[in-house]
Amino acid sequence: MINVTDLTKTFGKNQVLKGISTAVEKGEVVAVIGPSGSGKSTFLRCMNMLETPTSGTITIDGIAITDPKTDIARVRQRIGMVFQHFHLFPHMTVIDNITFAPTQVKGMPIEEARAKAKELLARVGLSDKADSYPSRLSGGQKQRVAIARSLAMEPDIMLFDEPTSALDPEMVKEVLNVIRGLADSGMTMLIVTHEMKFAREAADTIYFLDDGKLVERTKPEQFFTKPQSERAARFLEQVL
Ligand code: ADP
Ligand code: MG
Repeated sequence: MINVTDLTKTFGKNQVLKGISTAVEKGEVVAVIGPSGSGKSTFLRCMNMLETPTSGTITIDGIAITDPKTDIARVRQRIGMVFQHFHLFPHMTVIDNITFAPTQVKGMPIEEARAKAKELLARVGLSDKADSYPSRLSGGQKQRVAIARSLAMEPDIMLFDEPTSALDPEMVKEVLNVIRGLADSGMTMLIVTHEMKFAREAADTIYFLDDGKLVERTKPEQFFTKPQSERAARFLEQVL
């Protein structure tokens, strides 16, 4: 589904990604972990060209998104992204947040978009919040709306950048459970997270990034019990 070859990204003099190559299968769930500043967000943002790679190629389902001739807006419709801060439209109700892109970008009829939004709200456990404004929701509820809003575009890939880092502890689980449900449904996902227990249980593959390099790419069981690199071992000592 995703092929990355020799990806680099430089900001000014700072080389943030130093030649990453990998492939993600359809339905694979990847947890991206690593120290702060190691390049996790930049790596994720390159996957939908929110950052333009300095060199290297990325293909999504056979389409070279790094090719300047590619219609990136179109590819982006197939890739949902959820951030640490939820970026809901504050002046719109929950259901209008969810129907906005399908109706405006895809031209979906409003009745169809609303029916689909209601299904998605049920899926994230928020059927009773359709007509609420974001300001009336808890952080965990806002994040679940943000996930529903992404799903409304029927993406093939979901990218999550620390989706629970801005949440109070008691709300982390409700969001992780939604993401876990998506994983079980076969969605292809890359999830930057500091939730090690979640990464271990929900991911098919762990990517450990350090200093702009993909230092390890292994099964969770192996990563958490027998990390191959000294750097990963040190990282795990600090976080577990
Ligand atoms: P992580 O998500 O692992 O914490 P980031 O990808 O956010 O790491 O950042 C990696 C490095 O790139 C950091 O040194 C950060 O300061 C730098 N960086 C990220 N985005 C930008 C940007 N837009 N301009 C300049 N430097 C950036
Ligand atoms: Mg980050």
